[in-house]
Amino acid sequence: MRNIILFGAPGAGKGTQSAIIREKFDFAYISTGEILREEIKNGTELGKQAEVLINKGELVSDEIIIGMIQSFIEANNNKDLLLDGFPRTVKQAESLDKILSSFNRGEAKVIELEVDKDVLMQRLLNRAKIEGRKDDNEQTIKERFNQYDKKTAAVADYYKQKNSYISIDGQHGTPAEISVKLITVIENL
Ligand code: AMP
Repeated sequence: MRNIILFGAPGAGKGTQSAIIREKFDFAYISTGEILREEIKNGTELGKQAEVLINKGELVSDEIIIGMIQSFIEANNNKDLLLDGFPRTVKQAESLDKILSSFNRGEAKVIELEVDKDVLMQRLLNRAKIEGRKDDNEQTIKERFNQYDKKTAAVADYYKQKNSYISIDGQHGTPAEISVKLITVIENL
């Protein structure tokens, strides 16, 4: 069973590429950010807690996110997995390793979509006009980049050390062209 992490800074195209990939492969898919936005929409206790942090551009606690992933993997243990927006800290990556090994699923593989920061900012400001996400404003985006540099970039190093990391150019070309490269990588994993 494959365990694929689609990795990248905010605005790298993880959501867009996930949608394309899922038309081609039968993955069980989780976007932790999407789940949190649903919780906020439904006004749950978790949603209320998460909303404050998300609107500031900060990360939600590892415990909450790891609990979500544990339940997701438990429910989809017979399928290939596509993880979007997780892990975002080394602690989350270590917990994922433990969960995967407890289900005898083998290692996770990371595919990073690499995009320059100035391009990311432009993409996110454009997305704000189309999707109206509350955390897509300049001040919050800067904090999301800051959190990425401080906490999430190390996740790439964690998987590089395990030889479980591949990066592709997520900047040049249309989403369809980028997806062709991504699909080739997935087929050769
Ligand atoms: P995303 O949709 O992946 O950009 O996530 C939106 C926001 O949800 C992030 O800025 C975080 O506040 C929160 N979030 C999503 N995934 C995680 C995660 N794995 N760990 C911590 N916070 C997360």
